[in-house]
Parts: sequence; C-alpha cells; structure tokens
Amino acid sequence: MFGATVRHLAERAVEARRDADALACQAWNARMLAFQGPAQPSPALGDALNAGYRYLEVKCLGCDTHQTVALDIVRQPKSTPIHELERYMRCRQCSRSNGNGAIS
Ligand SMILES: [Zn+2]
Repeated sequence: MFGATVRHLAERAVEARRDADALACQAWNARMLAFQGPAQPSPALGDALNAGYRYLEVKCLGCDTHQTVALDIVRQPKSTPIHELERYMRCRQCSRSNGNGAIS
C-alpha cells in the first residue's frame, strides 16, 4: 500500500513538473510573440524538452528570415536558458545573430 502511495505521489510530481515547464514555455512564447521580449528570463533547455517542445524558431530582426533548430540535438547543458541558444543562431542572410524566438 505504501509502495502504491509513493509511486502515485512520484507520478504526480512528474506530471506537476511537466505542467509547470509547459506553462513556463507558453508564458515565454507569449511574451516573445506579443511583446517581442524581453527574452530573459527564459525556460531552461531541459524544461522545454520535458514539456514536449522540440524546436526553437528564431526570426531575424534584420531581414525577417526564420531559422529553426531542433532542441534535442543542441549540444548545450540542459540548464542552458532557451534565450541563450539564439546567440548560436547566426542569420545566414545578413549575419545578424540576434532575433526574436519562440519554441514549438
Ligand atoms: Zn537576417
């Protein structure tokens, strides 16, 4: 009986964590889309993956080009904030490195 309770609580914790991560990701997306930032603070890479997000799309503010990067192949620690990944996405068109991102 205790085993079932412990297991149940552990599952609840995993679900709550995933819900919290998803809400944090949605909040960040909403802020980026509605107000174009500020990008900080942003959810951690690991949080976004935990919430089921798989891609970061960054729109270059210089030329409006979109770039997408798959979050699960990014070679960064899981604690890296999403907004820091934007720095690694240099625009091929105009070589600007800053943009406006959203995760999906
Ligand atoms: Zn550009």
